[in-house]
Amino acid sequence: MKYIIYARKSTEDENHQVLSIESQLAELREFAAKEKLEIVGPTFIETKTAKEPGRTKFAEILKQIEQSRADGILSWHPDRLARNSIDGGKIIHMVDRGLIKSLKFPTFWFEPTPQGLFMLQIAFGQSKYYVDNLRENVMRGMRQKIRNGVWPLWAPLGYLNNPTTRGTDVNEKKMTLVKKMFKVYATGNYTLKEMSEWSKKVGLKSNLGNNISPGQVQTTLQNIFYIGLMKYKGEVFEGKHKPLISKKLFDRVQEVLKERGKPQKIKHNFAFLRLMKCPCSAAITAEKKIKPSGREYIYYRCTKKKGPCLEKHFLREEALIEQIKTHLQKVSLSSQDTEKVLAELGKDELKAKEQTKIIVQNLKQELTEIEIKLEKLLDVYLAEVISTEEYTARKQKILTRKLELQEKIRDFEQKGLSWLEPAREFVLKLNYAEKLRRSENYQEMKTFLKNIGSNHILQNQKLIFSFKTPFNFAAEPRSGEAESLTYPKVWTQRDSNPRPQQCECCALPTEL
Ligand SMILES: [Zn+2]
Repeated sequence: MKYIIYARKSTEDENHQVLSIESQLAELREFAAKEKLEIVGPTFIETKTAKEPGRTKFAEILKQIEQSRADGILSWHPDRLARNSIDGGKIIHMVDRGLIKSLKFPTFWFEPTPQGLFMLQIAFGQSKYYVDNLRENVMRGMRQKIRNGVWPLWAPLGYLNNPTTRGTDVNEKKMTLVKKMFKVYATGNYTLKEMSEWSKKVGLKSNLGNNISPGQVQTTLQNIFYIGLMKYKGEVFEGKHKPLISKKLFDRVQEVLKERGKPQKIKHNFAFLRLMKCPCSAAITAEKKIKPSGREYIYYRCTKKKGPCLEKHFLREEALIEQIKTHLQKVSLSSQDTEKVLAELGKDELKAKEQTKIIVQNLKQELTEIEIKLEKLLDVYLAEVISTEEYTARKQKILTRKLELQEKIRDFEQKGLSWLEPAREFVLKLNYAEKLRRSENYQEMKTFLKNIGSNHILQNQKLIFSFKTPFNFAAEPRSGEAESLTYPKVWTQRDSNPRPQQCECCALPTEL
């Protein structure tokens, strides 16, 4: 890991107990030596105020990291690194994209877990997380939305959340396939499992990019959203979204569902095949054994098809599931906290948009002034008040500024909010892990484990794998320092009342 050192002190900091730049640097170097951190590049020192976006050194650091010259930042405290939510969001987005692999602060114990990320956000100056009625406000907003005919949750399969209008649009790519799913199932010739396999074949995936399970097929086929209605907390509302299916087709599908009876439950049998390998590189197989008592057990073991193997023990499925749940816990974020983070991200988005609007307005104003300047300069030149050289030199200067402004405007207008969607997605995946952990959906667990990790090995009755980025950042804590961490209250109040009801197509709760 390569770290960049970043120190900052501004005039506004005089009242606060912030170390001088010299002291910050001395402390950071000592810390780096102690922790054996590899420091690269120049040391970045900022003395300007950080209130307005556009700190040059900060931008330079991000650039260095974008260009893979470094993948870690060492700073005195998170508040040195990011002073507003936009900067904080940029950092977290880079963590999310795997560009930043580590953040170290001598004064702030940062654990690279979802909790750690969350605390980092707080340290980045977003103490509003603690507002008690946040959840109530979110709920109120949702009720308002639903009364207005707008779906407040994630869009069902075949639809998209429109971030601009906040409404639900048709997903043109998936729409045709969803319609077809209804039509095919209405023939009565297929089981839910076959429809699930069909979805896989035609490439129809859930909003989180997973294959659609038989259960999810059923939820989709039963969702009245497709005929233009919405069911929220048991109550039916009229939606403003475009229906995909006619009432007639929908009713026919309901009849077929009824005839075919209850869907098959996903069997526990050998749910985790094709997930793990043995250290000897042979595949892991499973078998069922019946104890004299009549109880059935499933065991996982090496197939021993690649020559000599040192693994002697079998692993019982229950034990494997326990281990998997522990792994999932490492990357879980409770629904309550997810709501908070999402609500905060939403607020940040609004704020960022407002700020961007003002900045762009100012830049455009300056651009207009520059146009006038250019005209005046030409007038002066034509009146032969200044020489050709002088004219060229001045014009050059003004034009350079003009280009600079145009580029800045483009940047703000295009790239301003690019970190938001990935940040949201990441948070939702962490929450999905939490839900999965509390479920018995072993097929989904397998899929999720494959998505978040690689190189799954069953060694000495232990499931071992490496977390992929950015999940590694969330899952792998720094060793030996766990005792020094005190969580804020919000972490001790984990989801005490899990809400098992969730939307099958996106795994989000049907009732937030
Ligand atoms: Zn083996």
